[in-house]
Amino acid sequence: MNAIFPVEGGCFCGKVRYQIDQIKLSLNCHCTMCRRTSGAPFVSWLLVPNDQFRYLTGKPKHLQSSEHGERWFCDNCGTPISCVVHGDKEDKYIDITLGSLDRPNEFPPKKDYYLDSKLNWL
Ligand SMILES: [Zn+2]
Ligand SMILES: [Zn+2]
Repeated sequence: MNAIFPVEGGCFCGKVRYQIDQIKLSLNCHCTMCRRTSGAPFVSWLLVPNDQFRYLTGKPKHLQSSEHGERWFCDNCGTPISCVVHGDKEDKYIDITLGSLDRPNEFPPKKDYYLDSKLNWL
């Protein structure tokens, strides 16, 4: 199925809403930081060019999760929304949690990252 743009999403309580015009990639991340900050076995992300993403309502809160990374989440309901990594290449993109999309079925992940820390029962 091809995704129909723009696609919208938001947190569980509805305070934060966003819109995406185009994506670069849909992926699963098995790293330990994604696991711990989500409480889930792994996290599916959309890699979105910065200029193809905007918040519509609300402003998430952020946590400095590593030297170069920030994780943004709703300060009311806690839903993880995005991850921003600062670096030469990464500055052009924002990662958005696939599970917060209104139509997540349209974005099947194409790649798996950090397979060395993937849970062995998955
Ligand atoms: Zn919320
Ligand atoms: Zn990760």
